[in-house]
Amino acid sequence: MKIYRTGEIVSDIGLVHFKNILNRMDLDNIELTANYLFTPKIKVKELLELLWEDILERDYVPYLRNSSKFGGNSEGSREPYVNFRKNLEEQLKIIFDMLNSQDKPKSLNKYNPTKKCSICNRFYSTEYDINNKKHYQDKNKERKVSKYIYSFLGSENNTFSNYTNRNIEICFVCEFLVVLFLLYIYRNENRYIIYSNNLQLLDFINYRSTILTELNDIGILRKLSDFNDYNMKIYKTNIDRNKGVILDFVKNLDVKKIKSTIKNIALINEYNTNWSNRENLKKAIFSENYNQVKSFFLNNINDENIFKMVQNLSVYLKYIGGNEMSEEYQGWYKKGVELGNKVISGNKDEKSTQKIAFKLIKLLQSMDRSTLLDEIMHLFVVNKIDLPYKISNIIMEKDKDELHYAVGKLIEGLLNINQGGSDE
Ligand SMILES: [Zn+2]
Repeated sequence: MKIYRTGEIVSDIGLVHFKNILNRMDLDNIELTANYLFTPKIKVKELLELLWEDILERDYVPYLRNSSKFGGNSEGSREPYVNFRKNLEEQLKIIFDMLNSQDKPKSLNKYNPTKKCSICNRFYSTEYDINNKKHYQDKNKERKVSKYIYSFLGSENNTFSNYTNRNIEICFVCEFLVVLFLLYIYRNENRYIIYSNNLQLLDFINYRSTILTELNDIGILRKLSDFNDYNMKIYKTNIDRNKGVILDFVKNLDVKKIKSTIKNIALINEYNTNWSNRENLKKAIFSENYNQVKSFFLNNINDENIFKMVQNLSVYLKYIGGNEMSEEYQGWYKKGVELGNKVISGNKDEKSTQKIAFKLIKLLQSMDRSTLLDEIMHLFVVNKIDLPYKISNIIMEKDKDELHYAVGKLIEGLLNINQGGSDE
């Protein structure tokens, strides 16, 4: 059976917690994807025992214990939680019927299904509630919003917001997930919740109690960056005796930004410069002064040591170009190699190609387009090689990064000769 993500922070975290409880059962093929949880058939009795262990582990679950349905106050006899347990068992049976068969199974009829659930939009809410208290057994108990279960004030775009003031429809499945969310919060004294629209990511991130302190850790950043294109929101949970659980929005975590930070820090480490420059560059990345880093990379490429120079040029090109441009300008790299071969074969000065590279990089630094075009055309004409593709269009009209990338690849090819390789 499948339970889908609803987009509600509370029920989605509850769903992930459900998966983690099921992991303790001997079940094969539990599958959590970005959008749903798939489980094989579950025995109600077994699951009930497992949940019960969780519930009894606590003296009581705050806020939940005051619920007449799921709490210490629900007992009809001296034995604590008797009614709670019966209610939970009945609810599990109905939920599995709902999940296995259809949105409105026969077992739901007893409770008079009314409208579709406002949270999942899949199952039906009911007019009556499950209740096993002795004096209710012959008559129906009207279903009411319990402020002890649904008090999630403050979370953004959340249908639970101010729930106690509104009468929204909620199905038994979603209600169960809410209860699991409450158990989750209790179990993990972690006061931060990170939400994203990917269940696998929720599972990874919310089951690490120290996740926020780990956000400076490059390994965790890398792992997070595997979840491409997902934005994460951080909430802080506050437990208020009267209002219930309050989720306060703290900040957004942008995975794309995390990815590019990792990439940029790695590039800074590859660049040949001293320790304190490197630290300053990293600070610039964290404060998003990307242009400062770009200028530094460009202005310090030239170096007497050709290996350092090639390395710095390569870092600069990765910084401005990334993968998008690399294919398009392979032709310029090959032209550079061709040019390098000619220059070397006609010249006894070992440093001749490096001298050309120095000059071209200075022209890139000053952004003197017409001199740059003249210089490159001259080099190709003198050495009797065909000009690079679209050379005047690229040098005279393309934006700065693209021009730098093309000419940079040419210089890379040119310098590659000196290192003894002409293939790549
Ligand atoms: Zn629902």
